[in-house]
Amino acid sequence: MQFIDLKTQYLRVADDVRARMDAVFEHGQFILGPEVVELEKQLAEFAGVKHCVTVASATDALLIALMALDIGPGDEVITTPFTFVATASMVKMLGAKAVFVDIDPRTYNIDAHKIAAAITPKTKVILPVNLYGQCADYSIIENIAKENNLLLIEDAAQSYGASQNNKRSGSFGHISITSFFPAKPLGCYGEGGACFTNDDNYADQMRLIRHHGQRSRYHHVRLGLNGRFDTLQAAILLSKLAIFPDELEKRAEIAARYDQLLKPHIATPYISPGNFSAYAQYTIQLEDRERVQKILQDQGIPTAVHYPVPLHLQPIFLDEYQNVKHLQNAENAANKVLSLPFHPYLTHSDQDKIVNALVGALEFATA
Ligand SMILES: *Cc1c(COP(=O)(O)O)cnc(C)c1O
Repeated sequence: MQFIDLKTQYLRVADDVRARMDAVFEHGQFILGPEVVELEKQLAEFAGVKHCVTVASATDALLIALMALDIGPGDEVITTPFTFVATASMVKMLGAKAVFVDIDPRTYNIDAHKIAAAITPKTKVILPVNLYGQCADYSIIENIAKENNLLLIEDAAQSYGASQNNKRSGSFGHISITSFFPAKPLGCYGEGGACFTNDDNYADQMRLIRHHGQRSRYHHVRLGLNGRFDTLQAAILLSKLAIFPDELEKRAEIAARYDQLLKPHIATPYISPGNFSAYAQYTIQLEDRERVQKILQDQGIPTAVHYPVPLHLQPIFLDEYQNVKHLQNAENAANKVLSLPFHPYLTHSDQDKIVNALVGALEFATA
């Protein structure tokens, strides 16, 4: 059994993927070719925004979004400590300071009610993450941003396909970013990411930055990088995007079945009213995680921990955080969370096997 089964998905789209890749080999425009243009159009349409700028990874997408908003030394960016490192490391890479606000223990997302207290005259951006595929509370966060004249970046690396109050992830904030890393809900067969915005100027700046600030060939009007997305990956994503709405439904069904089977035994993931999750992960909490993980492993069931160390406790942020008070909810979650195998092609029999092994492990503990 695999944690995420990419092979079954591949078998479903193989003919189409190969045909689209062959077309790229034939036309030979490997960088920013016609498939990239077509994909950007479809991704923007799906998210309900004006512009999509595909890039080489979501790490680059974060860097490029922050650069487009002119974030640098002296600026503060409010974000969550319970996320993948890139969310905050790109802030630090630009010389700005990541200010960590504790999470809501139920959703694992930044606690919107604690953001206001973290705002200082240096604050420029609020950068929430939609962890495990569920949107942060944008009804509150958008208001805080507006009232305090702050910019908002949505880290939708785990949530493309999710929605909140019928508005799709990718459309919140001034800029939204996502990832096409293979294991994300919409993944390619390599590295990839995208930035989304309704703002013509931000879109223009992000296109410039991903291409060495080049306005016309070898004329550089601002600092940039090589952050371009490649055409073969765009061709692959066009195939996968065609089945993505169906996969999102399958994800929801499989999550609902986990909920139903696990509810008598353990707390299941909390999804806020109004949220439709992309279920990048199906994550529970355990007091004795390592013991349960080992029992599952012994039965051939892989699990994962997203994430074992919150960012305020990581060596790369110790400079800023050695004197900071504990972020208790994030630390608590880091000690307890466990993600179960989850993907759109998980069979009922595999799911039953996972649930039985987990329930057995729980009973063994309480016996
Ligand atoms: C995966 C991830 C990223 C980085 O994505 P890459 O495409 O691997 O660079 C950023 N933020 C979050 C929340 C992620 O899960």
